[in-house]
Amino acid sequence: MTQPSIYRSQTAQRERDRQGGLAWGGRSVAALDEIRELYCDVVECEERLRALQRVVAIDNTPPSVWRTLTDGLRTSLDVSAARVHLLDDTQQRVKAGLADELSGMTPVESSACQYAIRQNDILVIGDLTACDELEPVIVGGETMRSYAGAPLVTTDGHAIGVVCLLDARDHREFSNAELELLKIMARVVVSIMEEGTQADTDRHKPPATLDRDPVTGLLGRQELLGRLHQLVDADQAVRRVVGVLAVHVRRMDRITHAHGWAAANQLRWDISERLRAGLGNEEVLGHTDDRTFVVITPVDSDGDGGADHWLNVRARDLLALIRGEAFAVGGDRVQPEVGVGVAIAPRDSEYAPNLMAMADEAAAEAASRYLDRIGNPNYDDIASKRRLLALEGPLRRAVARGDFCVHYQPIVDLSRDGRVVGAEALVRWPQPDGEEPIGPDVFIPLAEELGLMDAIGRYVFETSCRQLRHWQSQPGGSGLWVSVNVSPSQLSDPNLASRFAEIAREERVSPADLKLEITEGVIDERGGTATPVIHELARVGFPLALDDFGTGHSSLARVISLPFQLLKVDRSFVWDSPNGAGAGVVSSLSQLAGYLQLASLGEGVETKEHEAFLCRCGYTYAQGYRYGKPIPAHEFAFGTNNLLAFQHRQGGSPTSDV
Ligand code: C2E
Ligand code: MG
Ligand code: MG
Repeated sequence: MTQPSIYRSQTAQRERDRQGGLAWGGRSVAALDEIRELYCDVVECEERLRALQRVVAIDNTPPSVWRTLTDGLRTSLDVSAARVHLLDDTQQRVKAGLADELSGMTPVESSACQYAIRQNDILVIGDLTACDELEPVIVGGETMRSYAGAPLVTTDGHAIGVVCLLDARDHREFSNAELELLKIMARVVVSIMEEGTQADTDRHKPPATLDRDPVTGLLGRQELLGRLHQLVDADQAVRRVVGVLAVHVRRMDRITHAHGWAAANQLRWDISERLRAGLGNEEVLGHTDDRTFVVITPVDSDGDGGADHWLNVRARDLLALIRGEAFAVGGDRVQPEVGVGVAIAPRDSEYAPNLMAMADEAAAEAASRYLDRIGNPNYDDIASKRRLLALEGPLRRAVARGDFCVHYQPIVDLSRDGRVVGAEALVRWPQPDGEEPIGPDVFIPLAEELGLMDAIGRYVFETSCRQLRHWQSQPGGSGLWVSVNVSPSQLSDPNLASRFAEIAREERVSPADLKLEITEGVIDERGGTATPVIHELARVGFPLALDDFGTGHSSLARVISLPFQLLKVDRSFVWDSPNGAGAGVVSSLSQLAGYLQLASLGEGVETKEHEAFLCRCGYTYAQGYRYGKPIPAHEFAFGTNNLLAFQHRQGGSPTSDV
């Protein structure tokens, strides 16, 4: 097995020294890939996760011990930082380090420590910033370059975390003695944590402070996780399964708002009493957050789906207990909507936090349904959440580097013989050759969640202004407009209008030629908070378009009260026309637009039948693959006095990207 260049065990280190001391690092990207390939299942390995959980659950070492240890390492080795990291299958957490580092979480996908864990040996990286897949590590405002990490290996051989040194110097040399000390420190850390575990087991008593919910007196999340972990472990030996039934009470926050805390707490107490009364012999009940109760049920497994059936019966019992009779809340009778989620060990997972999260999510999902209020984990959902989590680091880096580009999709005027009068700017995140494209419908919501959308939105707006100015300077280009999508978080910036107006002024384009597209969903979600920003955008001269119209649930009265000039009817209705159920919506929305004196645009026009129907209904504009897919600006061309989507109507001379 060839060791990647980034891999440095003690032997490799000695070998390197014999050869005259080469610099660390180097082919880092290839080497990390190699480690990941060689040890691909290590991070998610359930036994490793259980070892981590076992050690963490009872570790009660005071924080001062960890501080002394990492401070000592940092000062004696003269590095920028020394830390202890613990890694589960998705997140890296700082267990010990400087006080302001302690809340830090990094997705495992983009942490250097995962590689030390995978290879279960010392890892040295000469320059962290040269490794694309790693999230930049900033300490005290400085970017860390050099890294050395030693895995924390439990007595049963699982690497659960890393003690690492970080330094702002590029390719800082770590001597044999320093790496030896790091290894010893890793052993010390594990033995401190494991000794705590051992001591507690020996004493056969629970930790001094039990984690309990103060209102109901039920076990809290940490305590319940500990119990679940023990049960899963014990029951493995005797071939039983363990069911986790999460009971999710919907709209608890509304009850709190309407009736106050005291009444909501009374309701939680009453629910806990009903559940307690219906509890079986071996079952354990807990209350993990304000609206979730959890019952853990060990079941004998006959290997024939019997356990599944039994757990379903228990889930129905729990539903019946809560939905049977209304609760008295602040003088009213309230029938809370609840759902029960069922996760089963070992089938769904053997790792307690995963089981709890799966049951939780299945319960929340089931609670939102009207008929079947019992749910199982949705594996597709879990997989897509993991994929999203893995995208966080790359997306942050792409934003830092500005790795995006803008494509444009032509918009045609139906009353002027399908002439291209404008284009919608659509952001793209190019991926390396051979990798699957990631669409804006995936990365934009994630960017919103991570607070990155302002930077992306600004980039798209600036680029679109520059492209518009270029097009407008071409013969026949003077009447063109560009549409730019505005995301929900951008609309929460009270200065958005002045910022956009400033950019348009700097780029020498008129706001009147920049339509801003706002989806109907934003108005549902942000309601009142977006309203003043929307009015201000219109006031400074940007025409506004209501995007994806027909898909939201916003009140028509509110939509009408906002200063929109164009209704963009969602493509799902156009696709379902002229013969399907969408036809009625398409024709009545055009009438509505006419009545409100707004222009109308049909999205997703793919066939001549779609186009003919929009013309019959009196639509002003159309947009869709029939006229052109979103393409880079240089694939557009100017024909006789007109911008053309080059790919569809050859001729004219291509324009350029700006
Ligand atoms: P949208 O604003 O409604 O954009 C139209 C979407 O429909 C685009 O998808 C476009 O490629 C697609 N489309 C247009 N005509 C057809 C057609 O005939 N057939 C089919 N199958 N699809 C068609 P895209 O580019 O994947 O964008 C998806 C959504 O992502 C956009 O929907 C918009 O909500 C959002 N988005 C894209 N770029 C930006 C941006 O720069 N900022 C913000 N905030 N959102 C953006
Ligand atoms: Mg749009
Ligand atoms: Mg749309």
